[in-house]
Amino acid sequence: MCGIVGYIGTNREAYPILIKGLQRLEYRGYDSAGVALLNKKGLNIYKAKGKVADLQDYCQDKDTSGTVGIAHTRWATHGEPSATNAHPHYSESKNLAIIHNGIIENFAEIKRNLEGKGIEFRSDTDTEVLVQLVEYIQERKRLDLLTAVQVALHQVIGAYAIALLDKNNPDTIIAARKQSPLVVGIGDGEFFLGSDASPIIEYTDKMVYLEDGNIAVMKLGEELKVVNILNEELSPAIHTVDLNLGQIEKGGYPHFMLKEIFEQPECLTNCMRGRINVEHNHVTLSALIDHRSKLIDAKRIIIVACGTSWHAALIGKQIIENLCRIPVNVEYASEFRYRNPVVRSCDVVIAISQSGETADTLAAVELAKEKGAFIYGICNAIGSSIPRATDTGTYIHVGPEIGVASTKAFTGQVTVLTMFALTLAEAKGTVANKDYVKIVEQLATIPDKIREVLKTNDTVRDLARTFTYAHNFIYLGRGFSYPVALEGALKLKEISYIHAEGYPAAEMKHGPIALIDSDMPVVVIATHNAMYEKVLSNMQEIKARQGRVIALVSKGDTMVSRLADAVIELPETMECLEPLVATVPLQLLAYHIAVCKGKNVDQPRNLAKSVTVE
Ligand code: GLU
Repeated sequence: MCGIVGYIGTNREAYPILIKGLQRLEYRGYDSAGVALLNKKGLNIYKAKGKVADLQDYCQDKDTSGTVGIAHTRWATHGEPSATNAHPHYSESKNLAIIHNGIIENFAEIKRNLEGKGIEFRSDTDTEVLVQLVEYIQERKRLDLLTAVQVALHQVIGAYAIALLDKNNPDTIIAARKQSPLVVGIGDGEFFLGSDASPIIEYTDKMVYLEDGNIAVMKLGEELKVVNILNEELSPAIHTVDLNLGQIEKGGYPHFMLKEIFEQPECLTNCMRGRINVEHNHVTLSALIDHRSKLIDAKRIIIVACGTSWHAALIGKQIIENLCRIPVNVEYASEFRYRNPVVRSCDVVIAISQSGETADTLAAVELAKEKGAFIYGICNAIGSSIPRATDTGTYIHVGPEIGVASTKAFTGQVTVLTMFALTLAEAKGTVANKDYVKIVEQLATIPDKIREVLKTNDTVRDLARTFTYAHNFIYLGRGFSYPVALEGALKLKEISYIHAEGYPAAEMKHGPIALIDSDMPVVVIATHNAMYEKVLSNMQEIKARQGRVIALVSKGDTMVSRLADAVIELPETMECLEPLVATVPLQLLAYHIAVCKGKNVDQPRNLAKSVTVE
């Protein structure tokens, strides 16, 4: 899990392009960074522990000239975060340099063999093994670089996106991928490389998304060549990518997370565009219609996901079961893949992942595929691995999500799951027309309702200040609000490092109530819905034990306000759509508490954006 950037050209200096690219990719991993540059004098590698800014400081008095280079931000898997273990890594002779995203599983065995042949290693990483192996093969068998890379990749087990520079082939970058993303940008007499499109889009919109097993040869003066490990030439599709830089940068907000919270109305409009016809109150997901019979005949739906996507899945379960009358199981992808689950060919598996690269979810997809299920992906990153591995699917279209704590992807996922349930329910005939129309009508108004919720930002910020003292939080909700409680608690944990737990409100009396005292803030989702009275009773129980209640209430509610220490008002909507509005103030609450505590909101400790390792 890391960021990869590469550049090869003749007229531009590589270093500024690489540094800017690393900054754009820093969300992918950020314990150290490094750059390799080729110029007339040779191949220079500079590395630093910490952020890209630390690398820049380190490079200040170095020779950073050269029009060819590769760069990396690391999120360590093998070997502690340090300048030595940071990428790029030299080969023994220092003729080659490599950057790598992923894990070489059989690195220990290869390393032992190479050490036995007298090769000395400089780092503790799995990555260095690969560059040493390529050089060993190159020298021993007198092979050209490309062939040596192909032979080396034959011996390697694991996941990788790699890029290599060779001092003796200064006009070429070689890149390869297996289970880790890699994009090549095609410019005018120059090539760009990135873990995704964000470091490239400023220079070209022509991109090739490499597939598993692809090896790209970017050679000056030649067209992009893509081959496989057997050296068969492939003809990859060149995409014109429609992504603007404004979408990627902070757009005037202090943090990506806040920008992304505020973008939600627009993102959900984009998500519904072309899918909801407001005039006719109709919703269609074409992917579902194209595979209508597979989905209509499904005996069961299994949703696999991790983290925030798993919370979206819990909401999806309720709405699909309600409208489509199909049993839905929600599974942690990481558990599902390792417990020989019962999956039949009459099952449909939905995989949800913002990045489309979540390793556990991708592995769950592969397992379900082997067992013959039909696979439907719900992802954000276009052209990523999960959409490519599934039978069909729907992009959430919320734009790049840079903040590590997921916000707009969550509401995008819930919106797509709702549209999925509506489309399937209509196709199956399991929903009454008036209910269908009402939900579609209401769904179309959600962006405006979120705009209204966002107006509470100042109130939430003031509230956050009074709760920064807390070391623990409890979040309670019932029915559709229970996953919202889980998501609110997760947001707080992720960015403010406050311990928080989400519970179904009625479960409180079965244990967690023991935790309540006058120091314990309890966030209760207490909107007007079928559970309202019951949640009120739960709140009484908290107050009786001096807990401090922050309540999310429907606009105009007076009953809860009398009990709660603080209230945040939400516009009314249907119960099944409430998660889309109720999650937003909880995102804001977590954000403001983290900011008050001085935490790094966009890059919380120990976390990275897309979890591409197990
Ligand atoms: N496994 C490699 C390492 O620990 C690469 C990690 C990454 O993807 O950043 O250095």
